Amino acid sequence: MTTDSTHDSSLQSWVESANDDACDFPIQNLPYGVCLTEDDEPRVCTAIGDQVVDLYELACADLFEDVHESLADAFDWRLNVLMHFGRPFWRQIRSRLSELMSTECGDLRDDSELRKRAMRPIELTELVCPVDIPDYTDFYASVHHATNVGSMFRPDNPLLPNYKWIPIGYHGRASSIVVSGTPIHRPNGQTRPSDDAPPAYGPCRLLDYEMEVGFYVGGTNAIGEVVSIDDAESRIFGMTLVNDWSARDMQKWEYQPLGPFLAKSFATSVSPWVITMDALAPFRCAAFERDADDPQPLDYLDSESNRKQGGVDLQVEVLLATKKMRDDGKEPMRLSKGSFSDMYWTVAQMLTHHASNGCNLQPGDLMASGTVSGPGKDARGCLLELTWRGTEPITLPTGEERKFLQDGDEIIMRGSCERDGYRRIGFGECRGVVVG
Ligand code: MN
Repeated sequence: MTTDSTHDSSLQSWVESANDDACDFPIQNLPYGVCLTEDDEPRVCTAIGDQVVDLYELACADLFEDVHESLADAFDWRLNVLMHFGRPFWRQIRSRLSELMSTECGDLRDDSELRKRAMRPIELTELVCPVDIPDYTDFYASVHHATNVGSMFRPDNPLLPNYKWIPIGYHGRASSIVVSGTPIHRPNGQTRPSDDAPPAYGPCRLLDYEMEVGFYVGGTNAIGEVVSIDDAESRIFGMTLVNDWSARDMQKWEYQPLGPFLAKSFATSVSPWVITMDALAPFRCAAFERDADDPQPLDYLDSESNRKQGGVDLQVEVLLATKKMRDDGKEPMRLSKGSFSDMYWTVAQMLTHHASNGCNLQPGDLMASGTVSGPGKDARGCLLELTWRGTEPITLPTGEERKFLQDGDEIIMRGSCERDGYRRIGFGECRGVVVG
C-alpha cells in the first residue's frame, strides 16, 4: 500500500467544511456511500466536509470522461458495479475525485447548476445500505475478545486449541443487514435461563452489541480458485463500521455444536460510508506481534508484506445514550475505546483463509472482524465483556444501570485514523436504537 498525492496533508478543498481538522471527511478521505435522490433512486456518492456529492451527476456531466467513458452506469445504483473493477481503476477514480474537490480545480466548483444537482448537506440526505450484499461472514479475530469470552464459559481453558492456527468465523445472514439509523427490534427466541427448568420462547433479555470493523470484497475468484495472501489486499474494496447485535441468552443455548444462528441473524448494522483501502494507505501498520511461544501462521496465511503492514491503525469507540439520557439532555456516554491494530488476524489473512478452500468470494461480500477488544478493560467491545456477563453493571450519568441493553437504548459507534504528517480521516457513525 503506497501513498500518493491524494494523501498530501496540505491538500485543501473548495468545500470549506472539509478543511476543518475535526472533520471526518477531508479531501484525503473521499469515502463511498449510496444516497437516495428526490425520486428515491439510489446513487453512488462521496462525502466531503458536511456535503454529499452525487457521483452519477458528475459522470453524466462528463467530469470522469478521462477515467472511463461510461462511469455513470457504475454510479447508478449501489457500489457493487464499482467493486467489480479492481484497484488500478479505483485509484484512477480517487485521483480524479481528489482533483475535482481540490481548491485548484474549477470543473465542479464553478458550475453552479451542476453543484445544485449533485451536492447536498449530509444532514439532509438519506443514506442507504451502500452495497447489495451477497454474503456475509463474521470472524472472531480479536484474541482478547476470544480469551475474555472463553474464560467466562471455560475458566480453565479459555482459548480453544484452534484459535492461534485458524481465523475462526461463522456464516452470517446478509438479508438482515441494515444501514446505520435503522431501529433494531428486540428479537424473540428460545432460551434456557436455568438448567433446572425447560427452555422457553420469548423476548431476548440479554441483548448486546459487538463493536466490529467490516470490509467489502472487490473482484471475483472462480469457484475452486484460491486467493494468495499477497493478492488478498487487492481483493478488498474498503472498510466500514459494523454492529453485530447479539442475543446472549439465545446464543448461550443454541451455539453448540454449530455456532451462532438466530442469536445474530435478526439484525446487523453497517455505517453508511465505505472508507477505501487507498484512503487507509497512510494508516497501515504491522500485523499483531505474536508471543514467542505462539505458533506462526501456516505458509498460506503468511507473507512479509502482511507481517510488515497487514494491520490497520484504526481507533474505534462505542457510546451509549439511553432514552432517559436523551430526555434529560445528557451527552452519550463512552463505553469503550479500542484499536483495530490489536486484532490477532489481519484482513488479508481473513480473506485468504475464506477462499482457501476454493470458495468464490463475490464483489460486495461483507466480512466482519469479530468484536474489536484490546488488552485493557476500557477496550472491551461488547457488554458481555464490559459488564463481565452482567456481574459488573455500568452506572450511567442519569444514575441508571446497565448489564445489557434496554428498549430505547441507542448504541453509537465511531472510527478514525490518525498519524503524524497525515490528515485525520473518520469513518462517520454506525447508530442503532433498540425498540421493543
Ligand atoms: Mn460478531
